[in-house]
Amino acid sequence: MLASAGIWRKVTTSALQEDGHLDFDLFTIGGGSAGVRAARYSAGLGAKVGLCELPRALISSDDKGGTGGTCVLRGCVPKKLMALAGLFAEELQDAASFGWEVKETPQLSWEALQNNKRRELERLSDLYRDNLEKADVKFIEGRARIVDPNTVEVNGQQYKAKNILVATGSAAIIPPIEGGKDFAITSDHILNLDELPRKLVVVGGGYIGCEQASIFNNFGTEVHLIVRQELPLAGFDREACAFVMEQYKLRGLHYYGQSSPTKVFKGPNGKLTVRIEPYKRDGDPFEIEDVDQVLMATGRKPKTQNIGLEDVGAELDEKGGLKVDEYSRSVNVPSIWGIGDVTNRIPLTPVARMEGSALAMHLFGEGNGTKPDYTAVPSVVFSSPQLAYVGKKEDAAVEEYQDVDVYTSTSTPMKNTLGRRDVKELVKVIVSSKDDRVIGFHMVGSEASEIMQGFAAALYAGITKRQLDATVGIHPSSAEEFVTMTKPSRKYRGGKLTEGEPLTC
Ligand SMILES: Cc1cc2nc3c(=O)[nH]c(=O)nc-3n(C[C@H](O)[C@H](O)[C@H](O)COP(=O)(O)OP(=O)(O)OC[C@H]3O[C@@H](n4cnc5c(N)ncnc54)[C@H](O)[C@@H]3O)c2cc1C
Repeated sequence: MLASAGIWRKVTTSALQEDGHLDFDLFTIGGGSAGVRAARYSAGLGAKVGLCELPRALISSDDKGGTGGTCVLRGCVPKKLMALAGLFAEELQDAASFGWEVKETPQLSWEALQNNKRRELERLSDLYRDNLEKADVKFIEGRARIVDPNTVEVNGQQYKAKNILVATGSAAIIPPIEGGKDFAITSDHILNLDELPRKLVVVGGGYIGCEQASIFNNFGTEVHLIVRQELPLAGFDREACAFVMEQYKLRGLHYYGQSSPTKVFKGPNGKLTVRIEPYKRDGDPFEIEDVDQVLMATGRKPKTQNIGLEDVGAELDEKGGLKVDEYSRSVNVPSIWGIGDVTNRIPLTPVARMEGSALAMHLFGEGNGTKPDYTAVPSVVFSSPQLAYVGKKEDAAVEEYQDVDVYTSTSTPMKNTLGRRDVKELVKVIVSSKDDRVIGFHMVGSEASEIMQGFAAALYAGITKRQLDATVGIHPSSAEEFVTMTKPSRKYRGGKLTEGEPLTC
């Protein structure tokens, strides 16, 4: 981290001392992962910082939010707590194969889970707010609007700032299909239901859709996942996606690739019906009936509307994200900066935080000229099993590097050798054969997220395949597969497959 690298230095003179008419060196709009990090680090460097955040609610809206933002209240944290809750169902099955006699079928109290989860989210959200105050950031609750390039208005009061930081995040959208807005819900709602749905349709093959489908599948809900493409998880490695898909199906998930919903409607019994049509394939439309909830996990839109960006003429990209340069500065309004999901770069919490640290350093630290570093951003789908990767996927690696060796290994995790033997894991390493550098690590497995963090550090440091092979394994573990693969499954030279079977997915 930048701070621990010893390159932080407090600024001694804030802009306020130089220029009496300003209230703040930095005014941050949005108290999520990005805004809070930038505000705290900037204040730590001696800048006078204000931060505005909407009043708290678990379902977000134009005038409701809360410190901690999406990650704490409607994203990473509630999602992971729900995923962990669902995993106990698998643990119970596995326990039996190790001789544990579970005499009565354990029952899930949905109410207890939701209450405990909500309490924890509120605790974390309060902590974010306390930490701002401890860091001497002035916290203002309300809805901020940019009035001019150096003025923000909240609750009728105007604040002058040398720099305005837009860290307003993004919001889930429901596509314009008939009945969608009336009957479907977004990820905000699915993480906050008062009742466990008996039957759920999830539309969308991104990581949010796959995670929710898998989580509710573990809770015993009948889950139907509808995806436009043949395979979900477009940004991930194809082989890993096909592998994880097989594992989802083995666990009972109903999957419909190349399919798209056209209508959602409510029947007299109060249950929903979803009409599905084939997408870019032959086949007849069909309906899924008796559905309790329909989750639209079909994308998110940066929150750039009605916050005054249009009044100051800040340029937006084609998806509505604030257009910024490599230092996170608005491309055409120099006093305005943007970080996190609102800029449409990589919408992940650690990335939002990293952009916040880099911006603080750039504006107020010794490291003027610091940019966010996207060299090795790991990504995880917290489903059962998990899918995690860092670096290049196979097709992108071949396109960019041309000469590539691919190492893959599948195995049954030890935990499943006595029972559910059809549970399999995949590890995959992609190597640039010209210089032996590892350019991609991929894994499907129950601990993939925990394992991938270390390999992300190795990739960032530029590990070679030779060094990977020289690394002593941890036995018995799933992770040791990464350091024991000696023969490539596929070789590409000049961008063409020269050894091994072609990928069919
Ligand atoms: C279901 C789901 C699961 C996710 N899981 C993961 C995960 O496992 N790992 C991961 O890394 N990422 C995950 N993410 C993504 C992650 O949550 C975001 O990338 C991250 O929260 C972005 O932070 P941010 O600060 O840019 O935006 P946000 O966290 O959304 O914060 C923006 C804040 O600005 C506030 N705001 C907006 N407009 C105004 C205004 N006018 N005035 C005042 N305040 C305003 C909002 O209320 C909000 O609190 C997930 C997201 C979702 C939706």
